Order: sequence, then C-alpha cells, then structure tokens
Amino acid sequence: MAASSAIQIPSRLPLLLTHEGVLLPGSTMRTSVDSPRNMQLVRSRLLKGTSLRSTIIGVIPNTSDPSSDCEDLPSLHRIGTAALAVQVVGSNWPKPHYTLLVTGLCRFQILQLLKEKPYPVAEVEQLDRLEQFTNQQKSEEELGELSEQFYKYAVQLVEMLDMSVPAVAKLRRLLDNLPREALPDILTSIIRTSNREKLQILDAVSLEERFKMTIPLLVRQIEGLKLLQKTRKPKQDDDKRVVAIRPNRRINHIPSTTEDEEEEDHDDVVMLEKKIRTSSMSEQALKVCLKEIKRLKKMPQSMPEYALTRNYLELMVELPWNKSTKDRLEIRAARILLDNDHYAMEKLKKRVLEYLAVRQLKNNLKGPILCFVGPPGVGKTSVGRSIAKTLGREFHRIALGGVCDQSDIRGHRRTYVGSMPGRIINGLKTVGVNNPVFLLDEVDKLGKSLQGDPAAALLEVLDPEQNHSFTDHYLNVAFDLSQVLFIATANTTATIPPALLDRMEIIQVPGYTQEEKIEIAHRHLIPKQLEQHGLTPQQIQIPPVTTLDIITRYTREAGVRSLDRKLGAICRAVAVKVAEGQHKEPKPDRAEGGDGEDCKEHITEDAKPESISDAADLALPPEMPILIDFHALKDILGPPMYEMEVSERLSQPGVAIGLAWTPLGGEIMFVEASRMDGEGQLTLTGQLGDVMKESAHLAISWLRSNAKRYQLTNASGSFDLLDNTDIHLHFPAGAVTKDGPSAGVTIVTCLASLFSGRLVCSDVAMTGEITLRGLVLPVGGIKDKVLAAHRAGLKRVIIPQRNEKDLEEIAVNVREDLTFVLASCLDEVLNAAFDGGFAVKPRVERFNSKL
Ligand code: ADP
Repeated sequence: MAASSAIQIPSRLPLLLTHEGVLLPGSTMRTSVDSPRNMQLVRSRLLKGTSLRSTIIGVIPNTSDPSSDCEDLPSLHRIGTAALAVQVVGSNWPKPHYTLLVTGLCRFQILQLLKEKPYPVAEVEQLDRLEQFTNQQKSEEELGELSEQFYKYAVQLVEMLDMSVPAVAKLRRLLDNLPREALPDILTSIIRTSNREKLQILDAVSLEERFKMTIPLLVRQIEGLKLLQKTRKPKQDDDKRVVAIRPNRRINHIPSTTEDEEEEDHDDVVMLEKKIRTSSMSEQALKVCLKEIKRLKKMPQSMPEYALTRNYLELMVELPWNKSTKDRLEIRAARILLDNDHYAMEKLKKRVLEYLAVRQLKNNLKGPILCFVGPPGVGKTSVGRSIAKTLGREFHRIALGGVCDQSDIRGHRRTYVGSMPGRIINGLKTVGVNNPVFLLDEVDKLGKSLQGDPAAALLEVLDPEQNHSFTDHYLNVAFDLSQVLFIATANTTATIPPALLDRMEIIQVPGYTQEEKIEIAHRHLIPKQLEQHGLTPQQIQIPPVTTLDIITRYTREAGVRSLDRKLGAICRAVAVKVAEGQHKEPKPDRAEGGDGEDCKEHITEDAKPESISDAADLALPPEMPILIDFHALKDILGPPMYEMEVSERLSQPGVAIGLAWTPLGGEIMFVEASRMDGEGQLTLTGQLGDVMKESAHLAISWLRSNAKRYQLTNASGSFDLLDNTDIHLHFPAGAVTKDGPSAGVTIVTCLASLFSGRLVCSDVAMTGEITLRGLVLPVGGIKDKVLAAHRAGLKRVIIPQRNEKDLEEIAVNVREDLTFVLASCLDEVLNAAFDGGFAVKPRVERFNSKL
C-alpha cells in the first residue's frame, strides 16, 4: 500500500472540489462529479492524461454546493488530500456525470491558486508521508504510549467486527502491518464519523494531535457496538443495516460455552449452516449445500448471487427430505368417508376403494396413476381431496391447464435471473411432507411451446421406476418422489399425449342424471351453501321441485357446478332478507325495490303471490323459513335460461336431433338440411372436422343409391337427388368445432326427411356411425349422450345395436323414462325416426329398457 512508503506529490495539482464526504489519506472514496469545473477536470486531465502523474489530483473537501458556484470559485478549504484517480465511470442518466473512485495519498496545503478556469490548479505543499516523516524514529518513541493506546483500541474494535467478512479479516492484518501513523486516517474513514469529525482529522496535521483526536472516536464506536450486541438479540435483522460495524460472531471456533452458542444463533448464515447439517437431506444434497454455504460466507451481501444462493439453501433446508405423515388407512372407514362426501359415482368409488385396499396390503405400491376423466363439476377434484383425507395425507392441487413450459414442472436452472423450482418441488415445500396426495388437475390442457414439452417432464414425475430420483433443474440434486400419490384429472383423453396416457389408469366419471343432481344438491350443495352464508334450515327452505327447476331451466351441464352457483345466488338473496329481518327496521321507501334484481321481496310472499304488491307487508321482517318456489326463483335468478325447444324446431322437414359427446358432457345437436337449385353440390357448415364431412358424403351416397326404394325425389321429382339440386347441411352452434363419426345416422335421417318431405318425430334422438352399405356401427360416450337426451326431455333414443351393453351403466330411472331403439342398419333407424315407419317393409325392433 502507498502508505507504507514515502510519497512525493507534484507541486502543482488540479483541484477536485467535493461538497460531501471527506477523503482521508489511505482510504478510498467514490464521488459523483457533475459540476462544470469538476467535469472539465475529469475530461481534460483524467481522461486525456497519459502519464501516471496526471492521475494525481487534489481533493478539496467541504466546498459549498457546486450547483450554486458556477461562476466564481468559492472559498476553498486550506488543507486537502492528494489522491490517485483509480477509476472513472461516465453515465448520461439522469444527467451527464462521472463517478470517480479516488484513493487518498497524503495531505497537502494550498500555497497559491494558479488558475481558476476551466478548473482550479494550485501550487501545493505536501504535509505528510514525506521521506523525513517516514524515516523518523522519533515518532515511535515520543508518541509511544499514545500510539500503543490507539493500537489497543483499534484491535479491540476490529475484533468486535465479523471476521467472516473478508474486508474485516484484511483490516485486522493491516493493523499489524501498516505503520502506526497511517492508522488514524484509515480507521477514521472506516468507523462511523460525521463529515465534521473527518474534517477535523484532516486538519490535524501533527500526528500526536491526530492520535489524540481519533482515540475518543474509537472508544465511542466500541461502546456503541457493545450496546448493539446487548440489544441485538430481539432484532436479528438489524445487522444488515450496520455493515461497517458487524459484531464478531466467531464462526470458526469450537462451540464451547452456551454463551458462544447463543451468539452463533444470531448469525443467519451460521444458523443456515446448522440447519443444513441437522436436516435429513440426502448425502448428495448435503454435499452441494455445504459447498454453497462455503461460497456464501465469502460473498459480500450486496452481490446479487448472495440472495440467489441463500434462497436456494433456504429451500433445500425447507424441503421435506425425510418428513412424512403416517398413513392411517382403514378401508371400512374410507368407504364410509367416500360415501358421506359423495353421492352416486359408484364405479369411481369402487375403483378408488380397490386402489386403496391394495395400498393397505402392499405399502410401497408402484401402481398405476389414477386419472379421472369426465365433464367439469362432476366431483373429480373433490374425490381426490377425499382420498387424501381417507389416507390422512396432505393434499395439494397442481393446476396444469395452460402450462406450456417444461420449466414449470422441472424448474429453471439457477443461472437464470428469477429462477425458481418447478411446481412439483414447490408443492412439496408448501405441504411440508414427502408423501402428499398431488392432484394434477387438467392434464388434458397441457400446452406445448418452444420452451419444451411439459408433458415429457411429467412422464418422469409419474413413472414409478424413475421418480425416486426426480431432478428439478433448480435443485440440481435428485429428490425422491416415490412416496407421493399422484392423481390426475382431465375432461377428455383425446388431448392427453399418448405416452402420458400410457402411464395412467383412466376412470371415466360420467355426468349426473337429474335425480342424482337433486340428491347431490340436497345432501351436499345446499348444506354447504347454507353454512357458507351463515343461514340455517330454519331460515330457508328449497324444496326438490325448485331444485329440479334450477337444474332444467337455469342450468344445462353434466356436472353440478352451475347448480352450486345458482344455489349460492339464492342463499345470498335470502341472507339479505334475513339480515334485514334481524334488524327489524321497517323499510318504508320501496322505490329501489321496484325493479330488477332488488325485487327480492317476492321471496317472502311465495305462498301468496297476490300480496307481493302489499307495501305494508314488505316492510315487515319475512316469515321463517323463507320458501323458495318458482316465483322466488324467477325474482332471484331472472327468467329461465333454457326452455324445452325441441318440438318447435322439428316443425319442418329436414331437421333431426343427434347426440354428441363433448368434453363437457353429452349434448343434443340439431342437424338441419335444405335444398336449392344448383349443380349437385354439398355445402357443410358448422365447423366440421374431416370425419364428420365424410359422414355427410356417405349419407348422401347411401340415400342416392336407395332413393328409389324409399321413393325419395329431388324438387323436380327425379330419383337422382343431386340432379340440378344443391344441398346445404348445417350443424348449429357454428363456433364449436365438431368431429367424429357418430352423426352419420342423424345426417341420413335429416336428409331422408328433406327429400321425403316428412317430419322426423320430435321426441327422438339418435347416434351411430354408418357404412356405405347402410350398416350402423357402434360409437362411444353412450351414457353421456343418453343423459343429454334425458335432460332435454326426449322420449326415444336410437343407438347402434352393438352399444346395447352400454345401457347397463345408465341409471334405472333414466332407462325407465326412455325407449331405446337398437338399430343395426339404416332401415331400422329410419323406421324408428318417422311416425308410422319409413321403409317399404317396416321392421322395427323396439327395446324397452325396463327389461
Ligand atoms: P371437477 O373437479 O370434476 O371439475 P369438483 O370436484 O370441483 O369438480 O366439484 C365441484 C363441486 O361439486 C364440489 O363442490 C363438489 O363437492 C361437488 N360435487 C360434485 N359431485 C359430487 C357428488 N357426487 N357428491 C357431492 N358433491 C359433489
């Protein structure tokens, strides 16, 4: 260091005028330069100068604010510090300025100002660190006692600081190696001192004076630190703000006394290390963590990587490497719990119980991953939650809908800014145990993007052979996922990647019948809603007929989610009534109750709707329980959203009802056809897929080849149906893409109706694939389709003969309400679809579901 040897500065120095901060010899300071004089000095002296001498400048402290002294040179402090400009950094933001890093060399005093512009230059006299000073033996002897005393305080102070900070360790070494006369300046600039005190030290040219002035500053700092240590215990985080005076917590010594141990506890990093050592992480993880903590100790806190490494280590400590809950599995209790939580869904519950039973018998089951597939709102998620409850395990849901980056599953590498672990590891951290039930929700909605395929990442997670060493990119060490019970849910298997599908056992969860929905509403949804709204059965009564009204006229869904929402809306409306009643404040002003939503008063008067207009009654608290009937329903939910429109739409030839399966459950679908003069073209509209288009062509070909047999003619009476005729087939709900072969029979029926001019029966729906020879082939999703027909109030359903077995899955009451026609060829379909039959020789086989 420069201080250890004699220094000779030039006799003429350019002057840098600073208005804040005092640079002392032996210390380094960063100062911002933006006044015109100083900027000029930097530009023409520091940036243009080529010799080492040109980087030596005089720093004059305590000059008044440079912005106010543009023109005249302010009065200058007589003593300054000659300094070496170590670094110059320029920036244009927020305004042009330079940042200078300067190291103080020695004191000087201004003898004479030589020039003022563009920057001041002065003739100077060096005041210390000259040869005559450094060679003096006298200072040691004369100042012996003073310097010894100073040294003792300095050592005491430095030892109170945190030796693990590299700068402190270096300072401790410097105390012994530097000449004593350099120490007062250096220590003054390190400890907490005001600018005024620093200026006094700068002005103290005699060494004796300097020692004398610095000792009280050291003592003050030491006392301050002692006080801080005493008060430190309750507020551990304070030390971040007092970087310069971090008390020493001696981390390298052997913890011998309890006092030392307490001291250790206060240091976060030491605590972290302790946690790492005591945590039960894998050997590999421990090795990585210890290496990282070693790096962390050497890193200054201000480094961005410090926070990164620290977060990483904290996550590693928090992860449940070896922590698990104990399974308490009892099949009988599980059955009761599942039955209590969920009505119906027998097949699903049966399969879940089988799964759990096998788990009970064989603990480390590497069984298949269950995947519940069905429309929304049929209870897939809530069954997952119940499974966790029966096992006594933690439950965590991971929503995969829209995830299109594989780092979402596997995490980002730690080299990225903002890197973080993936959802699996995050989930484990959240639940805090290594054997939770993870519900991978909506696996069918995983996306794909340039950032990789998340489904591929899931493959590893779900494979029991591989997932004992799942490696998240962020952790970069393996984590054992074999104890985690994964359950997946999806609306359809069609969009699940085949490899992923292969890992899972699909359990179909079909939609509910109206009767099932009523039961679910009264057993589960209504009690839950009442509780959520703070209502009791004594305050509100929803009879089953009202529930049926909600189901048929306000919702059209396979599950019960909309139904649940509607019930919530009713409870909210009633809660308002009940709350008003509790206050017993008559509301004479009826103006706002007169229109729309606010007209809830009707609810109270269901039994006698004629009294609704009676203002005096409305002012009274409602009579309990408030009965919800259809009038109340209309007031709360508005006019019914769905009406039975089937018969209306079948009032013209060329319309037939098909049954479609969608991920949201079964649906009825009207197929419409019309013909016009043309050149035999077929137009198809309604967003159809290729398979559906082919079905349409097949249907037309079959009808054309059988036109004579059925007496089908075009508008001009010709059996060539496309002669001078164009046909337009439309599948309404044009915005929804439709595909699949099952509309074949519906298209044939619709076209047969168009060409024969006869109406299709208004209560019949149909589904089935066709062949060119007129055979009807089986299709999927029969249960959902039949339920949709039932929901829509249809009476007869035509299905392929070979789908007969699927009817067994359908609830008895639904089967009783419907008549099924099992068709193996198109003759039979047409005979069933038209009143009085269609074929020349009708041969109708009817199947009654009661059998
Ligand atoms: P999904 O995951 O299939 O979309 P949820 O599990 O979220 O559906 O179910 C929606 C709501 O319906 C939940 O409040 C659930 O409790 C209720 N629910 C669905 N099916 C049943 C059932 N069979 N018995 C009782 N409640 C049910």
